[in-house]
Amino acid sequence: MADSSSGLIRKEREKARQLRKTGWWKRRCSIGVCYYCKGRFPPNELTMDHIIPLCRGGSSMKNNIVAACKTCNNKKKHLMSFEWDDYMSALKQSDDSMWL
Ligand SMILES: [Zn+2]
Repeated sequence: MADSSSGLIRKEREKARQLRKTGWWKRRCSIGVCYYCKGRFPPNELTMDHIIPLCRGGSSMKNNIVAACKTCNNKKKHLMSFEWDDYMSALKQSDDSMWL
């Protein structure tokens, strides 16, 4: 990986760290719902996740950041992208309204 792009990732990570302190993020956590599996979790069980990972060119914009439970976060890290897609379609429910 080129130095310039890892520097960019570091900057985006820092942005994410700052976002964690905001009321916006705290509200996300207090809703207590995992973006992916729609399960309910206590705020301390939710982690910040980038829908498009920083290493794939995602950024720390609010529209790329969601609350995810540890299970989903781990799966996302370890699954190949097509396996992740399978996991997502298995989870897919009609109830997306709370994120709109
Ligand atoms: Zn989940």
